[in-house]
Amino acid sequence: MTDPTEINSVYWNAEKKSWEHKMIQVEEYHGFVECQQCRKPLSHNIKTGGEFKVVYVECRCSRLRSR
Ligand SMILES: [Zn+2]
Repeated sequence: MTDPTEINSVYWNAEKKSWEHKMIQVEEYHGFVECQQCRKPLSHNIKTGGEFKVVYVECRCSRLRSR
């Protein structure tokens, strides 16, 4: 798998009280943590905007839960 150049991250919008998506540009990719249940990536360790961050994504079971 090649390193992603951008990630569709999911985050909690406290004002709207809902989950929202945001595309994050990846400057450096440092791996991911996989979901214990569906084995899909749950969070990615990246560098963006000069900072190291952990960005969360929807794994397969979180997509199912939100339906
Ligand atoms: Zn999962």
